[in-house]
Amino acid sequence: MKQLFSPIQIGKMRLKNRLVMPPIVDRLAVNGMVSDAVKDFYVARARGGVGLMVLTPGLVDRSMTSSVLLGVYEDRFIPKLKELTDLVHANGASIGIELMHFGRQGAGIKGYVPVGPSPIPWSSHEEPPRELTIGEIERLVDNFSDAARRVRQAGFDMVELHACHGYLLSSFLSPNANQRCDKYGGDPEKRARFVVEIIRRIKEKAGEDFPVSCRINGTDNIPGGVDPEMAISTARCLEAAGADLISVSAGVFGSFPVIIPPYDQPMGCNVPYAEKIKKGIGIPVAVAGRLNDPAKAEEVLACGKADLIAVARGLIADPDLPNKIFNTAFGQIRRCIACNACFDLNERGPIRCTVNPEAGRENEMKIQPAPSPRSVSVIGGGLAGLETARVAAMRGHQVCLYEKEKQVGGQWLLAAVPPNKQDHGRLVDFLSSQMEILGVQLKLGQEITAEMAKKLTSDVVVVATGARPSVSGSNGVNPAEGIHAWDVLQGQDVGGRVLIIGGGMTGLETAEYLLYRGKQVVLVEQRKHVGYDMGRTVRWHLTKRLKSLKIEIFTSTTVKDIKPHGTVSVVREEQTETWSGFDAIIRAYGVQSQSAVFTEIKDSPKEVYIIGDAARAGMAIDAMRDGAEIARKI
Ligand code: SF4
Repeated sequence: MKQLFSPIQIGKMRLKNRLVMPPIVDRLAVNGMVSDAVKDFYVARARGGVGLMVLTPGLVDRSMTSSVLLGVYEDRFIPKLKELTDLVHANGASIGIELMHFGRQGAGIKGYVPVGPSPIPWSSHEEPPRELTIGEIERLVDNFSDAARRVRQAGFDMVELHACHGYLLSSFLSPNANQRCDKYGGDPEKRARFVVEIIRRIKEKAGEDFPVSCRINGTDNIPGGVDPEMAISTARCLEAAGADLISVSAGVFGSFPVIIPPYDQPMGCNVPYAEKIKKGIGIPVAVAGRLNDPAKAEEVLACGKADLIAVARGLIADPDLPNKIFNTAFGQIRRCIACNACFDLNERGPIRCTVNPEAGRENEMKIQPAPSPRSVSVIGGGLAGLETARVAAMRGHQVCLYEKEKQVGGQWLLAAVPPNKQDHGRLVDFLSSQMEILGVQLKLGQEITAEMAKKLTSDVVVVATGARPSVSGSNGVNPAEGIHAWDVLQGQDVGGRVLIIGGGMTGLETAEYLLYRGKQVVLVEQRKHVGYDMGRTVRWHLTKRLKSLKIEIFTSTTVKDIKPHGTVSVVREEQTETWSGFDAIIRAYGVQSQSAVFTEIKDSPKEVYIIGDAARAGMAIDAMRDGAEIARKI
């Protein structure tokens, strides 16, 4: 990993390595100010060895006041920002902040009136933004540059302009959004004028030597938007204006899932754009987009396709990622699985991560040694049980984990079966390797019944027995008929033509799994839309692929009965119909918590807890969090 750990000079800023944490929306600020949670989050990543962190968007204009995003539009924000930069520097990393304006993509934010280069909404469902006047653009040039002056005063090493993802500066760069006929619209040079003026004014107000990075799109990925050739022209203009670094991303709200590419997108998906831009300019280029695999990152640098690797989710998942790579402790890395829960589930609250329950709660979740180590039995080796065992063992408890199957992982093993989801298995790999390292006693192939649980001699029992497909009726369908999606993902043969009942995540992923195997798939969902329980980034890609695989989907359709010989009775548009000719009817809904063991032992004198799906069937992120919290309590 020689390239990754070689220093680089960007203007007057010298970085110790090539790993950058690009901006994420962490929602950890309080009243626009740096909070203790912000400090804890970034200090943990600074300690973990990252070269540079670029902070969550700093808002440059008071028209966009937000409680949970950082403000840089007034001097009163400087002291708290300074506390943060001092802490980050003391922990060995450099730090920048991104300056942003929502532009036409801020509809729905309380009190904010969307503005843009032209009155063109980003979606036909949105109201057109108000077109900015030349006077307003000039005032915004001042707002951005004043914010940069504050940023320098607060001790930041660099400032970045958020000129990607469709927000204000990005919309000026895009012919799709910018149809002005004045000096700020027309060809790529004129569309870049707004950003160019900001860079020049920053250099005047914050100092010629204060590094300015511009984060731009290599492609907007929408018709009529920025394409790779335009991106090169833009980068040249920004370089000529004094930019010190170009950071390459992709996508706008109209192509939203491209902004944060989930697990089914290729590693390094933006590298081709960065490579082209790098060939066209002389300043360093950073690139983001599924690059948390150390070997891939090293290869991108070694081949000269970029100068810096931007890793956001990899560092949310494991703040110590750089140090672990540096020390070649690859097996210790808690890898991001690109599930996008950190974005899809966080639209209102502080950041959360599926694989790292500590993310956003670094101080509260600090692992403290147990005051008096105890013996702990964990029943169930799914995610909740494994995380409990891991943290309890780290705290010094004697932990024994019982799993009825011959391997740990539980239901999560099935989550890694559908196409493109193999990386989900890395979470089980990480947790099970920790069992060995931490000395957790694993008893595999050992089912603990209620009677056996009563006889356990440990001080504490944690029941993490998960969930199973429902055996009670639901949707009017007798569950004894048909098979469950979990059986299919475990390899049960289903013949050539199947009907899947349920269009949530399980149904859609099972459909894709079968379509890849050449099956004919019909899917019914009683709601108006499929994928209702999925994050929007993941759903967008999956539904697009399913369409291309020629699935037949019927929404607002209810299966009333499953009859023998592959026949069902369905209600569609208030008519009852009989469909037949299916080789298998697959139920992709209905799971039930397995809480019987807990019910039997909960009143025993021992300390007994129930967690994860055994308590309430839910998402992996909740199971992991349950395990993390209970292990800190015992
Ligand atoms: Fe990665 Fe998922 Fe964690 Fe986000 S929530 S950092 S995508 S593992």
